[in-house]
Amino acid sequence: MIVPVDGLVAVPRDFLQNVQDSYDVVVIGSGLAGMTAANILGRAGHSVLLLEQHYKLGGLATWFKRPGGHIFDISLHGFPYGMIKSCRRYWNQAIADSIVPLKRIRFDNPVFSLTTSYHRNDFTRLLSEQFGVPRSTIDAFFDTARQMKFYDDQELTTGELFERFFPGRQDIVRLLMEPIVYANGSTLEDPALSYGIVFSNFMSKGVFTFEGGTDRLIQLMHDELLSNGVDVGIRCDVEQVGVERDRVVSVKVNGRTIRTRSVVSNANLQATIFRLVGDQYFDSQFIDEARQVRVNNSSTQVYMALKPDEYIEESTGDLLFSSTAREFATDLLLSRDITSRTYSIYYPRTRPAGRSRHLVVSSTNAKYEDWAGLTKEEYEQSKRDLIETTLDAAEKYLPNLRERVAHIEASTPITFEHYTRHVAGSSFGTKFEGLAVSRGLPEQVRGLYHAGSVGIIMSGWLGAINYGVIVANDVDACLMASGSAVSSARLSE
Ligand SMILES: Cc1cc2nc3c(=O)[nH]c(=O)nc-3n(C[C@H](O)[C@H](O)[C@H](O)COP(=O)(O)OP(=O)(O)OC[C@H]3O[C@@H](n4cnc5c(N)ncnc54)[C@H](O)[C@@H]3O)c2cc1C
Repeated sequence: MIVPVDGLVAVPRDFLQNVQDSYDVVVIGSGLAGMTAANILGRAGHSVLLLEQHYKLGGLATWFKRPGGHIFDISLHGFPYGMIKSCRRYWNQAIADSIVPLKRIRFDNPVFSLTTSYHRNDFTRLLSEQFGVPRSTIDAFFDTARQMKFYDDQELTTGELFERFFPGRQDIVRLLMEPIVYANGSTLEDPALSYGIVFSNFMSKGVFTFEGGTDRLIQLMHDELLSNGVDVGIRCDVEQVGVERDRVVSVKVNGRTIRTRSVVSNANLQATIFRLVGDQYFDSQFIDEARQVRVNNSSTQVYMALKPDEYIEESTGDLLFSSTAREFATDLLLSRDITSRTYSIYYPRTRPAGRSRHLVVSSTNAKYEDWAGLTKEEYEQSKRDLIETTLDAAEKYLPNLRERVAHIEASTPITFEHYTRHVAGSSFGTKFEGLAVSRGLPEQVRGLYHAGSVGIIMSGWLGAINYGVIVANDVDACLMASGSAVSSARLSE
């Protein structure tokens, strides 16, 4: 389509201009799982095309800029130490070297207020001295959590795990659970192993962040993808995955059909099955299972940038889990009547090379249904309410914040849905049962894979990257079996 603008003729840019007609692998979506899979497969010598519908790479690992030099990160709040190893092996040393620890993690709620480094040693001290738990119980709990493996008992819930070690101790449940709910959307009703694996990852060395911000991380990843020969297309909304005789043959994007021997979809799991491929290509039992997969919750966020001459004391902390609710309960965490907020404080050290700015992002888990179906006016009013109530709540920690803020805005589940196409604006993909469906795709349609937040364990920055690695290995094996020219040995380089 050619669009006339002020008497001129604007020719729309062809975002597929330098793209070939066929590839070994097409990766749909540039979240951390999609980019990691593309990078590994490109590095191994396969021809790879990465297609992203948004105008930016990164998926939920993204950022936005506002006038005045403010850069807001969406999901750069904290990840486990394991990111260093994964980034060194599957990306590069420069990325791994920019991962630095957060110093202060704070909790403030009606039951307790404390600051911790979020290490096992410090948690052991807190549980013993502040919560009065015998040392033997603390050690047994940590050891049990650390030894949990994917193939363990999946019946035990996280709530039951806590009850086993800390019966009736709501305060301890809150301390142990609140950050993990925030990190991957898991709840007390989810399988305990989804808690144990993620919690132990964090407890090994604390909480980490990326120096330079998400913009720098994604730029470094983009450079690495290009250096490994991956073709990258933005504003490329894949409409369909073509299947012939039970095998992937093509993708349809921006009106063009590109042939491919395999597809890694980093799009939402249900969107992959029901929108991109079509349920007619799967057996009915698989489709039943796919329909029963629950998506995880969504989020709201309020982004606040302080005026250039305003600053925040370091003692405020890097991550602050704040709640006004006396009880800790999943429903309360998701309620529109917000009682829990997690504040990420970004000091100038977050972006040492950037302008000296202090920013705050307040995040809260949220239900999509509470935001969908509102009229435009109701939606805008709800966003304004969210901003106002967040300012009120944050002033407890940041006095006179209202007057000190230069820029403020909010996002909702509808925003997340818009930018990522995730079903119901899900922040963390699917619940536990999504993992089996994701892993089962290639048995249904040869050459079809999914890599992205599923099953809680594969969510978050580290989970998404590691799932990208697992799936890249599967794709490589599939391509090798069907006669690729390259050596899979290069995958482990
Ligand atoms: C508010 C919030 C805070 C978070 N905080 C943290 C945190 O502190 N620590 C942490 O570890 N994790 C956090 N997370 C979770 C983490 O960001 C995600 O788990 C992870 O980034 C998801 O990566 P992914 O690979 O699954 O893909 P996603 O990031 O979900 O990306 C999927 C990509 O696919 C693209 N796409 C979809 N459909 C198509 C199509 N048809 N064609 C082309 N492209 C398509 C989308 O545009 C998107 O770019 C947070 C998430 C949210 C929402």
